[in-house]
Amino acid sequence: MTSTNPKVAIVGAGLTGLLAAHGLKKNGFDVAIFDGEAHIDARPRDWTIVLHWALPVMQALLPDDVAAKLPRAICNPNLEFDANAESFPVYNGVTGDLMFASPMPGSRRISRQRLRSVLAEGLDIQWGKKLQSITTATSSEGDSSTPALALAFEDGSTVAADFVLGADGAHSLVRGVVVNDADKARSTPSGLLFATAIVNYGDAAKVKTVTDTHPVAAAAMGTDAVGGCGVLYVNDGSDGAPARDIADWTTFWVKIWQGHLDKAVQGQEAIDLLKNSESSKKLAAPFNQQIEWTPEGSVCYIDEMKYWVPVPFAGAEATQDARVTLAGDAFHPMLIYRGQGFQHAITDVDNYIKALVAVREANWDADVRRREIGAYDAEVVERGAKAVTQSAQEAALSFDVEKVSKMLMARKGHGRSA
Ligand SMILES: Cc1cc2nc3c(=O)[nH]c(=O)nc-3n(C[C@H](O)[C@H](O)[C@H](O)COP(=O)(O)OP(=O)(O)OC[C@H]3O[C@@H](n4cnc5c(N)ncnc54)[C@H](O)[C@@H]3O)c2cc1C
Repeated sequence: MTSTNPKVAIVGAGLTGLLAAHGLKKNGFDVAIFDGEAHIDARPRDWTIVLHWALPVMQALLPDDVAAKLPRAICNPNLEFDANAESFPVYNGVTGDLMFASPMPGSRRISRQRLRSVLAEGLDIQWGKKLQSITTATSSEGDSSTPALALAFEDGSTVAADFVLGADGAHSLVRGVVVNDADKARSTPSGLLFATAIVNYGDAAKVKTVTDTHPVAAAAMGTDAVGGCGVLYVNDGSDGAPARDIADWTTFWVKIWQGHLDKAVQGQEAIDLLKNSESSKKLAAPFNQQIEWTPEGSVCYIDEMKYWVPVPFAGAEATQDARVTLAGDAFHPMLIYRGQGFQHAITDVDNYIKALVAVREANWDADVRRREIGAYDAEVVERGAKAVTQSAQEAALSFDVEKVSKMLMARKGHGRSA
């Protein structure tokens, strides 16, 4: 490869892809980013993510002007972030008593949608580009400056690139390419259903049942269902926007329980199902009440959680000789316990950029590329497999009050899983 500045194509403009695009640009790489969705607001779904052990790495990957806008994404930026606010309490799902609070110093809970919109700033994202295939580009003989790969999209367009980073989420198409076996690359259903709801109670007393449980977010465990609640938005998300009256805060609740679902259920059908379910009713107050009070028309989804334990890639042909790899949920989709998924995605992005910098420093030498990208892949396979496995083990302990104390969350808090 003689090109002085090879193009990196990122597939997926979720949090991982957007962060990778900023980090690569900041390090002087030529980046193109594609997403299959029509635009950034194509889906109304939102959820909260707690940024904790990888937050400093994420800040360092961003240009200063984007990093400065991170407070816009924080669910309640006006909170006084003391030790209590920077912790995650877990209540007994039968009695409602506090079992433990996991300390998370320096952590901030953000809205995924708002963080995505902050991270989209300054990037030229190509929407409506659903990747179909990656093939070796045909180059005129002897022209080694021609990009090595061709990406084909569902709209019939093609793009050339030298490297591809698959940040295309839990159902990654790029994973199928590098593993080169559709069955092996398919995520495993966990046997656990997961419901999320975005709620505007319009009633200060109801919102206070959320904030009295914890000013940021909390969970209840140890019975047939895991419940959770927290604050999603207190303002409109613009710079310095004042908090609305507490009655108008947007909150969320989540519920996890055992079951299978072939297809996601959403909207009023999901709300009715959750309100009528025995395991919702059995959850300790106020977690059961927060479900019961859900106003008609709230955003609600139920889906089965899936995971994939990373395995080594299929070899040089599948990875286009160490030019195609993965990051984020595409590489290690895990269950949400202990909030590790995006922390590992940030770590992936940081490591990938370091690997590409090393290849560039070696003047794009092919052996160095194989060594550096190969080492990146191997490290994420090992770290990701451990994190995914731990997330499933953690889930298995969360429905029995006698076992909750054995959870890593209870014993070791929200520290790095791998
Ligand atoms: C309820 C919930 C709570 C969570 N809490 C935490 C937490 O507290 N802490 C934490 O660290 N993590 C948490 N996570 C995990 C975290 O949300 C994910 O790890 C992270 O958002 C993954 O981002 P991603 O960009 O890798 O994938 P995604 O967000 O799935 O983005 C993938 C993108 O790729 C695009 N795409 C897919 N296929 C194609 C294609 N063929 N062509 C082009 N584009 C494509 C999609 O449109 C999408 O925009 C939580 C997850 C959930 C669901």
